[in-house]
Amino acid sequence: MAIKPSPIPNESGIGYALRYAQRNGIQYLSSLYKAQEIEWLCKGINSKKIDTGRLLEIEATESLSATFNPLFKVNRLLTARVCLDCITNNQLIAKEVQNPFVTTCSVHKAHFVEWCRCCNKHLEWDISLLDARCTNINCGALLAPHLNAGYPGDLTEQQVSDCLLANYYYSIAPGNLHCVGSKWPKLELPTQAVTNGFRLLTSKEAANDWLLKLAKEFPGAWPSTFRSIINTTLANLIGDWKNKALFEKQLFRPSPPCLSNTLKVSVEQATKLLVTNRDGLQRLQEAELVSRTHSRLHLDSIIDISLVLVLLETQKTKQRCQKSLMELREIMDFYALNLVDILIAIKSGVLTTNYKPGSHITDSIFVTEQELKTFGLRKFQEFRPQYVSFNKASKLTKVSVSSLRLLRKLGRLRPPSVAIHGGHDLCNFEDVIALRNSVESDQLDLFASRVPKPKRSHLVDKVGG
Ligand SMILES: [Zn+2]
Ligand SMILES: [Zn+2]
Repeated sequence: MAIKPSPIPNESGIGYALRYAQRNGIQYLSSLYKAQEIEWLCKGINSKKIDTGRLLEIEATESLSATFNPLFKVNRLLTARVCLDCITNNQLIAKEVQNPFVTTCSVHKAHFVEWCRCCNKHLEWDISLLDARCTNINCGALLAPHLNAGYPGDLTEQQVSDCLLANYYYSIAPGNLHCVGSKWPKLELPTQAVTNGFRLLTSKEAANDWLLKLAKEFPGAWPSTFRSIINTTLANLIGDWKNKALFEKQLFRPSPPCLSNTLKVSVEQATKLLVTNRDGLQRLQEAELVSRTHSRLHLDSIIDISLVLVLLETQKTKQRCQKSLMELREIMDFYALNLVDILIAIKSGVLTTNYKPGSHITDSIFVTEQELKTFGLRKFQEFRPQYVSFNKASKLTKVSVSSLRLLRKLGRLRPPSVAIHGGHDLCNFEDVIALRNSVESDQLDLFASRVPKPKRSHLVDKVGG
């Protein structure tokens, strides 16, 4: 090509390519570049592979914003849009046009235009944009400015990001609420998405309508944390907004209860809801209590945890003196039991419980103290790690961590015999069991007579007790 125009300061790569093509007499971008090359230009990648005048002088950065938004991996919008004033003044399509969290031109304060009011089609990255015309070849009308977006033009990047998140959660299907992050934001109508999100975050009426809809969509028989996962997840992700407090609350329970019956969540959400870690989820998967997607769970796995709830709903024993797992926390700790042990025991019929949806899963499962102890005692036989942390040792012995540290000093609670990372914070399990037995038979003399009492408190302080 003969003409190689100089890049304008802050010009985007795709904007430069459009000018370069136009100056060399090209009418449509597709007659100069393959579709893949146009994609590279939009993404700001592989610039060296595309022969485009002085394109290489434009700094190629993939991400155009440091704002974090879980929906996108790269903050660079691929959707075509322009500032009409920048176009009219000097055919500039600035880099910020591709920043997904910017909605107005920083120079002209005008909203970006992304669709044609004449034919209602979205714009494409094509040369007629430089003449402020629609890119639909059957239309070509002059583009009209976008005067009234449904949000103020001075939103910060973080606020726009929050609006996009709100729009995402607003339109999510209830059984399927993991965040489907895509690498590149491909918002068909960024303005519409920001408008919807802004309305949800600021209009009390819109928020209440949405919460009502959610309340009806989630089964009334689920614990509140499960029912309210969409709105509370959104509340956690956004900054300070008028409606944030509304989203933080748990949904009310409608009657009659209904409807949806799958609950697909991310691994992170599942570990929170089920009070466990990835190993625990793996065990639940092996017990066929969470759906199998892959044989191993990985961080991006999406899993369906509704079978846990289906199982719990079958738990309707009416025994006297049942307490919730939350109230029986100490017994759980003493026998090193966790929720996953309980769920698997329920599934295999070892433990009979009652289920009454409360706010968390642990205050929704009820069992008698005796039955939990019997189960714990048996289960504890299988619990034979080499070492446990001071914290765990404290739960297993009911002896405070500061006293345990004192016992360490006295040589009664040995660290690992071989040097391992973090070993100073671990206790030999045999010693813990010996200690547990002596506590149980009431024979523990924590402070052997050779250590006089006043010194004890001194020692406890010294080790940070
Ligand atoms: Zn402008
Ligand atoms: Zn048009």
